Amino acid sequence: MDISNKVFIESAFQPEIFGDEMYDLICRLYPICRSITGDGVRETLSIIHEMVPIEIHEIKTGTRVFDWTVPKEWNIQDAYIKDGSGRRVVDFKESNLHVVSYSTPVKEKMPLAELKKHLHTIPDMPECIPYRTSYYQSDWGFCLKHKDLLALNDEEYEVSIDADLKDGYMTYGEFFKQGELADEVVFFSHCCHPSMCNDNLSGLAVIALVARFLQSFSLRYSYRFLFAPATIGSITWLAQNENNVHHIKHGLVASNLGDAGCSTYKKSRRGDAEIDKAFQHILKNSGKPFDIQAFQPYGYDERQFCSPGFNLPFGRLTRSPNGSYPEYHTSADNLDFVKPEHLFDSFYKIVSVINILENNKTYQNQSPKCEPQLGKRGLYRQKGGLQNAGHFELALLWILNLSDGQNSLLDIAERSKLDFNVIFSGAQALLDCGLLAEATS
Ligand code: ZN
Repeated sequence: MDISNKVFIESAFQPEIFGDEMYDLICRLYPICRSITGDGVRETLSIIHEMVPIEIHEIKTGTRVFDWTVPKEWNIQDAYIKDGSGRRVVDFKESNLHVVSYSTPVKEKMPLAELKKHLHTIPDMPECIPYRTSYYQSDWGFCLKHKDLLALNDEEYEVSIDADLKDGYMTYGEFFKQGELADEVVFFSHCCHPSMCNDNLSGLAVIALVARFLQSFSLRYSYRFLFAPATIGSITWLAQNENNVHHIKHGLVASNLGDAGCSTYKKSRRGDAEIDKAFQHILKNSGKPFDIQAFQPYGYDERQFCSPGFNLPFGRLTRSPNGSYPEYHTSADNLDFVKPEHLFDSFYKIVSVINILENNKTYQNQSPKCEPQLGKRGLYRQKGGLQNAGHFELALLWILNLSDGQNSLLDIAERSKLDFNVIFSGAQALLDCGLLAEATS
């Protein structure tokens, strides 16, 4: 980047403004009924477009993408279950989680016993509506609070799902920012969940803000942001961009970034990618609890980017991971479950990792035979005998010793247990006085 990393990091540190901005975006997106296709996704992307000029892609139903096929487009207008008195005992207008996503249309009367085959609840969480989908199997169903199920009388019910499942398109959004290099950093956030905040609105909000934030800077890497439905979205993008994935040097799948849990980084399948090291460094130095997980082929879209035919250096950042908290995939993942301060914390960690990726270069000590005399260059204290060298002075010694063309600044930061930014400023000082030069690979 053509500005110091200090400016980059300092302009990112606006906890109140950025935290509220992401939370407000989540509030706007929350009521929309999203699925893997349909108008809810289009509306969501058009709101994100107000923040970042994303390009909208429409992929036709039936398009083959590796072993998958882009499904029919699903849209829903209304849905309900009415009791004998005509009262809506389950009403889609109250919560879009009430309908199993991709339900086929239905308009029938049936007894409770028959209806129950199509009802989903969580007996352990009687106050919550579960989230269920049936994308690739033709079916219909309703989700409701278990306590409301228990209150249903044994009578005949009128069931209506006014939905359509037709040939159409799968929609996704993409924003690309050209950098100095063709090498890319890719961010992916799924956009297919209806009214739930942590999974997945928090990911969309954080990634959209990162994209907008980066627009003000000229950067070394090119950056690509994908806002697409889970699984079929990443598979489609990979199928359509297979010839360009060699440009991807670092990637991140982002979701669940607004809850109170600690930041959790799941390593790429490679396990030792630069982005894996950068996230571990940032989390270790954050002074807050964190968790690092090894790759496993279960989770979000890292499953596709890290499939063996691609094996891309994609990690995943969440706070509480998928399936690890009771509110996951229920109506309790609501506007109270995510907080501006957690969103900001996640945003800031991602920007801090970008700062490392942008500045993590490998250098060569230009005076490697014994230590160069730093004092005469104003880089070392003039009074001897102090008990400890300061962090900055220590950093200079580590950089000079390890800059043999093999260790990057991040490697040096890890080995010395000093913060990357201290190592970075040390390297700048040594570059300025000619003691360091960029290594030629
Ligand atoms: Zn989910």
